[in-house]
Amino acid sequence: MNTKIVIIHEENKRDSLNEAGKVIRQGGIVAFPTETVYGLGANALDSDAVQRIFIAKGRPQDNPLIVHVANFAIEPYVQNIPEIAKKLMERFWPGPLTLIFNKTDRIPSTTSAGLDTIGLRMPANQLALELIKEANTPIAAPSANRSGRPSPTDVIHCIEDLDGKVDMILGGETSDVGLESTIVDCTTIPPMILRPGGISLEELQEVDPSIIIDPYLTTPLDENIKPKAPGMKYRHYAPKAPMKLIDLGSKTGEGIKVLAKHYSNDHKKVGIIATDETKKNYLYGNVYSIGSRMNLKDVAKNLYDILRQMDSDQMEVILAETFEEKGLGIAIMNRLKKAASYDVITDYDTIEAILSLGN
Ligand code: AMP
Ligand code: MG
Repeated sequence: MNTKIVIIHEENKRDSLNEAGKVIRQGGIVAFPTETVYGLGANALDSDAVQRIFIAKGRPQDNPLIVHVANFAIEPYVQNIPEIAKKLMERFWPGPLTLIFNKTDRIPSTTSAGLDTIGLRMPANQLALELIKEANTPIAAPSANRSGRPSPTDVIHCIEDLDGKVDMILGGETSDVGLESTIVDCTTIPPMILRPGGISLEELQEVDPSIIIDPYLTTPLDENIKPKAPGMKYRHYAPKAPMKLIDLGSKTGEGIKVLAKHYSNDHKKVGIIATDETKKNYLYGNVYSIGSRMNLKDVAKNLYDILRQMDSDQMEVILAETFEEKGLGIAIMNRLKKAASYDVITDYDTIEAILSLGN
């Protein structure tokens, strides 16, 4: 397939959005910027169009899509709007918050991956909003990456993954938040966070203190618990190299240093995810600073880009520092843990074991 790539600027904006809206209306698929990550969009009400997203991404069929809207008139798509959802929409829309509702028949089961519920979000990015208005239909859009790869926060990432697989790629600014939306299930009491993201637990609890984090998020290795956000069970956001998170408190730096030396001696290309505060400490390995610990927004914004850089620099093993699981730190750690397939080293004995066993 020939993919039309358009980098949007002031002069071509109207025509490009008009054309992209037409592509969506006619059943095509378009990658576009949002403030969370770039999305790959199709008409959410057109089952065949939505099916094309699954094919282009190589996405498992049981992983539902988030539907993007440009206004608050969501009644045609949801059974009812619980009070809590109204409050959350008022406070956080447009923005990086997806709400789960019981769906109506207007939403085809391809979009919801067979579930009776649907996730809705109103993005804050102006181009995204204008595209939805041009298309004149809600747009189903997962992240615009091949399934399993780090999500795209720049049009370059979309081109890397999807050129030749989609009708159109629209380039705008890099994604401001850099992590996917927070997902809150409003069909349960208490409402539950199914995925941490750009809006933190603390911010949500200001609106309703009863909101909790889905217990699955803290016990992800228990195979008996079924995740309510089906996407949570898949390997996600991952670089190609195996990745380890090192969380040894004051000894973290030392742990990373000895592991980096060990792998370098083994002739492996080692990538280290450090911070502005610590990047100078490492003597072995290729050091990538993810930003300052004083500014978690920047860390979130840089995360996927760093993972992709490490892929293109062909790192063979990745060692990463960790962040306190508070505020945006919860979402950052969720993505890092997934990228590392939950390989988190929390005691020095594990490091000793790696040095002596050589794995
Ligand atoms: P993506 O946009 O590719 O990052 O994925 C969207 C995420 O939203 C996935 O983890 C889905 O499982 C989740 N999701 C979408 N719709 C629903 C829903 N109705 N119920 C639970 N999770 C959902
Ligand atoms: Mg995704």
